[in-house]
Amino acid sequence: MNTRDTEHIIAELNTHNNYTQTTNPQEADLIIINTCSVREKPVAKLFSELGQFNKIKKDGAKIGVCGCTASHLGDEIIKRASYVDFVVGARNVSKISKAVETKGSVEIDINHDETNYDFSEFRSSLYKANINISLGCDKQCTFCIVPATRGEEISIPAEIILNEAKKSAQNGIKEIFLLGQNVNNYGKYFSSQNSEKYDFTKLLQELSKIDGIERIRFTSPHPLHMDDDFIEEFASNPKICKFIHVPLQSGSTKILKDMKRGYTKEWFLKVCEKIKTKVPTARISTDIIVAFPHESEEDFLDTLDVVNQVKFDQIFNFKYSPRPNTPASTMEQIDSDIGTRRLNTLIELHKTHQDLHMDKAIGQIHKVYFEDLKPNGEIMGFSDNGMQVFVEGSEELLGKIVDVKITTNTRTSLKGVVL
Ligand code: SAH
Repeated sequence: MNTRDTEHIIAELNTHNNYTQTTNPQEADLIIINTCSVREKPVAKLFSELGQFNKIKKDGAKIGVCGCTASHLGDEIIKRASYVDFVVGARNVSKISKAVETKGSVEIDINHDETNYDFSEFRSSLYKANINISLGCDKQCTFCIVPATRGEEISIPAEIILNEAKKSAQNGIKEIFLLGQNVNNYGKYFSSQNSEKYDFTKLLQELSKIDGIERIRFTSPHPLHMDDDFIEEFASNPKICKFIHVPLQSGSTKILKDMKRGYTKEWFLKVCEKIKTKVPTARISTDIIVAFPHESEEDFLDTLDVVNQVKFDQIFNFKYSPRPNTPASTMEQIDSDIGTRRLNTLIELHKTHQDLHMDKAIGQIHKVYFEDLKPNGEIMGFSDNGMQVFVEGSEELLGKIVDVKITTNTRTSLKGVVL
């Protein structure tokens, strides 16, 4: 999502303010840091990076802060780092052109409606297109700062999304990646009441009718909205990549309730079971937070139990990080060392599953979409079910989807030969 926001920022500045990009910060007339605030670490990093850029920037160059930390800290950023010229929140990207011209401007209104905003065109990849389908979040997970930085959930009109996908296909892009905090809640809230009734399944069906779009991916879906229609569409639509993110957060029903996730351990397991039954080749990734307040050893064992049963292909593990003004930040916290130990236990367990899955891939044939030529002569791409694959080959493979036989497992990626 931040990558797409950055693309929008670049597009707007190219079109309206006559900026072009440089890779050399010492040469830049304008330096923007686009920030995250989901966990505490990136926030701390912001101020040290700002200091570094301020030291090396050329005379008169401007510095701006965008993204979720901008939404969350607002003018405090300028108070702490007076050389910062402007602050633009994650929900205010459309105001970037004006903000760069207005010293001291702080645009952080989380109710600002950008859903009908047609941003100028810029994409960092020739092969894949990130497309926002909704803004904000309607959930109230007690650990999460996102609703306070990206605002209430609104879906972008389907027409805008379909046009973006068509334009991408015309430019030779074969894969689209739909983005939102709860993508499968798409269509629940539109800013205009006249918008046609739409849901995520219908959006997927309409997008897959576009000639030239061969692959559709999305993140993040919420387990709560994985209804049978959606799972059926996921299973039967050949353009939908068979790699799905099902964010668990915790395996303990008690902790899930404290997190206000809206589902139980059993319910989560049932969703994964349905996905696996319908699509035995599907790969499943997840997010897990360890050491959420009050998480007992028994609660953590429940998380390990879910991990053992589902055997996720990929896990994004996090140690709970208290965020300002979230309900969980005022609950009784767990000792940090316990969190580190649980995190390590989880990582070790997951490695054993990862090895199992990756070993199973050896000898299989997968359709790989090639996107990156490495200096050592290898070409990298992803299989339809999200595995990273390297082959030897020339740039002729870039942008093509080709059958590859997998030969070697290097744990996080695979090697293969083009058939
Ligand atoms: N909308 C997505 C979450 C996006 S944030 C969802 O509900 O699934 C990405 C991930 O960061 C979350 O899934 C969660 O695992 C992690 N995260 C969010 N807040 C956190 C916090 N306070 N501490 C640690 N991890 C957190």
